[in-house]
Parts: sequence; structure tokens; C-alpha cells
Amino acid sequence: MAFTFLQCIEEACGRRQDPKRESHLCAWCGGLLDVRYEFDITDPETLRAAWHQRRLSGEPIDRSGVWRFRELLPFIGAHDRVISLSEGSTPLVGTRRAGWWAGPVHLTIKHQGINPTGSFKDLGMTACMTRAASLGVRMVACASTGNTSSSMAAYAGRAGMKAILFVPYRQISAAKLAQALDFGAMVVEIGDSFDEAFSLLRQVAAEMRFYLVNSINPFRIEGQKTIVAEMMEQRAWRPPDYIVVPGGNLGNASAIGKGLRELKEMGFIEKVPKVVVIQAAGANPFFRTLRAGSKELIPVEKPDTEATAIRIGRPANWKKARRVLEWTGGFCESVTDEEIFEGKAALAEDGVGCEPASAATVAGIRKLVRAGKIERHADIIAILTGHQLKDTDYVIRHHSAAEDSRQRIRVDANLDALRKALEGVLAVRA
Ligand SMILES: *Cc1c(COP(=O)(O)O)cnc(C)c1O
Ligand SMILES: [Zn+2]
Repeated sequence: MAFTFLQCIEEACGRRQDPKRESHLCAWCGGLLDVRYEFDITDPETLRAAWHQRRLSGEPIDRSGVWRFRELLPFIGAHDRVISLSEGSTPLVGTRRAGWWAGPVHLTIKHQGINPTGSFKDLGMTACMTRAASLGVRMVACASTGNTSSSMAAYAGRAGMKAILFVPYRQISAAKLAQALDFGAMVVEIGDSFDEAFSLLRQVAAEMRFYLVNSINPFRIEGQKTIVAEMMEQRAWRPPDYIVVPGGNLGNASAIGKGLRELKEMGFIEKVPKVVVIQAAGANPFFRTLRAGSKELIPVEKPDTEATAIRIGRPANWKKARRVLEWTGGFCESVTDEEIFEGKAALAEDGVGCEPASAATVAGIRKLVRAGKIERHADIIAILTGHQLKDTDYVIRHHSAAEDSRQRIRVDANLDALRKALEGVLAVRA
């Protein structure tokens, strides 16, 4: 088995940590940690064939799109119980109208909404809950804009652990709250923003003996990085020019970058796609920080966007994400809520639904193509992070009967009125 260790990401420190310590941050400088390995992979070709072969297997561990690539996460021991719900194995879907609208570019969608709890968070959760189970953890906790909590609640149920989640009061979608309650989690509604809830959780976690599963937990990143292997396999190991993700806490961008780097170093891919992060204009601390060339994070004190999954003012993983943009030659862009809405509509024309945060990707691509930062006809994969039904309030709000007479009409319950109304609508359509 490959040797596993934890290492501080700060260049001035870089110290290796005791792997049994579970604080998630460097014991010396408080920096973020990477899970690192001395991989013993020497022959990518054989491993690719083995991964491919596992798709035909009926074993639960092989049916997971994370654990099918378990040689990339060699921190589990032979006898560890894997906490899985058959996550991953999500489709790559081509687009026509959305690619035209955003470019024209060759736009392919990697739809992470098609996961057990409806978001990409399941990939990270299976990895860190497996880790937690191996440590004998009984209580897990996170602060969340919604999807991490849905996912944690499900995997905690699976593992037989108690789940406690901190969410900002009245700021997460009804669907996400419902999932967490349905899976039996204890919900603490606290603070006005994710950042506030997270900060309070961090202050009590140690004394309450909570095991934190927020994305500062580096094992989350390990699960999430496997999306890259899955995607490359689906494309016969031909990388695209760009991989575009929405950025909130910036764990996903960090994971994708780590996955790409490891695959490149071990010879699975020749070329490394540029990783592009899109933030909402009302919650764009990473964009501001990079634009200012600042060494310190420039936080957004009152983050505001309808894309609640990325409404974060102090992204915990910003330094890991910055490193990814440096490794891959990528960049960060910021788009307004109107642009996100248009992006979502463009995807919908291709029959692809997603939650608002996910649509920031196509909105960002359009903006970057217009600015000449992404070439026309570039080969691009946009990661759609969450399922369409995660935030139905958003959709319904934007199509209220009074404002959107193209799609919604209210008709008196008699035939005359009905005929008149239908003729009116159909005439407009024709
Ligand atoms: C969590 C989440 C994001 C943001 O991902 P980060 O890793 O926090 O940057 C984006 N979209 C959806 C749907 C999410 O659930
Ligand atoms: Zn350190």
C-alpha cells in the first residue's frame, strides 16, 4: 500500500503532520493540509484497464465512481469499512444551444447533480466519512450553505453516526433543509451567513468532540478529486482545454487541481486543462483577491447572491485554489445574478437543469469568450455542481404568473375564457 501523510500547504512551513492528529490544520502555522502519498503506481496503462474493468463489476466498492479509482486514494486500509452510496459515475452530456450561447465553444457538461443526494458533495463525503469511520468517530458536524449538510446527513446515517449541522438562519433552500431533516440530522440554525455559522462551529467543535467534515477536512478533497479521473476516462484520456467550476468555499476547484496534478505526474494525462473558477458578483472574494494581486484574502463581509450554494465571503480553501490556478494557468471570473439566470436558461434549452450556482459556469464562459480570455471553439467541460430540484423556489420566483406571461397564465375555469386565453398565447407563439 502507498504511504500516506498530511502536509501543510504553506511554502514557508510545509511540515509533515502526525496522521493521527485530526485538527485538519497545521499544528505549527495553522495552514491548510494536503493528504499526500508516496504512490507506487508505475504503469498507468494497466491501472486504466483495471479501472475500466471494474465498471462491469457488481461489487459495491467498484460501483462507486470514487472508489473505483481507489489507487488514487490509498489512505484506506484493507479492512476499513467503506461508507458509500454508489456516488459518482455521472454523465458527460454534450450541448448545442448552451455552447452556442456561451461561445461558440465546444461545451460539455459534467453533471454532478446526478449523485445520491443531488450534488458533487457526495464524492468528498464518501471519502471523509470512510476516514471518520476508520478513526471510530461517533459525531460529525459541518456548517453549510445546504448541500454539504444534505450529503453529510445521508452518509452519517449510512455510517451510523450522529450528524449535527450549522446553517445560516433561513438562508438555505427548503429542499436542502428537508433532505437533512429526512436523514435524521440535528439542525442548528445560527447566524446570518455561512461564514458566521462556520466560525461558531469551529469555536465549539473541539470541546463538543465533533469531527468536522467541512472542506477544510483534506479527505473531502481526496474524494472530490476523482471526478477528474472519471471525466478523463469518459473522454478516452483526452483532456479538454478548460474545466470550469463555480467557486464558493473553493474546495471543488482545489480538488480538481489536485487530481489533475497527480494524474499528470503519474503519466495518465499529457496535457493539463486550465481550471477556471466563476464566482457570483455579490460573493466574489477570490476574484477580488486575485485581481488586486493581494497576498491576503480580501473577504466580502455581506455576501449576497441568489445562488446560495456559493454565497460565501471567506472561502476557507482560497490558498489551495490559488495554487491550482497557478499550476494550470487558469483564472477566476465574476458574474452577476442576471448573467447566472441567463446561463441557466441557456442550459435549460438543451434540456439540462441545474441549481443556480452551477449555471454560473456557462455565464462565466460567455463573459470570458467575449473578453477574449477563452478562445472561440475551445473544448470546455463545465461542472454542474447541483441538481435542478435543489432550489425550486428560485425557478418559481423567476416565473411568477404576473411577470412571466410567456410561460405562466392564470385562467378562469370556464371554456370561453380558456379558449380565448389559449388562442392569445398560441398566436403569440406562432
Ligand atoms: C458546494 C457547492 C458549490 C461550491 O463549491 P466549493 O467547493 O465550496 O467552491 C457550488 N455549487 C453547488 C451546487 C454546491 O453545492
Ligand atoms: Zn504549517
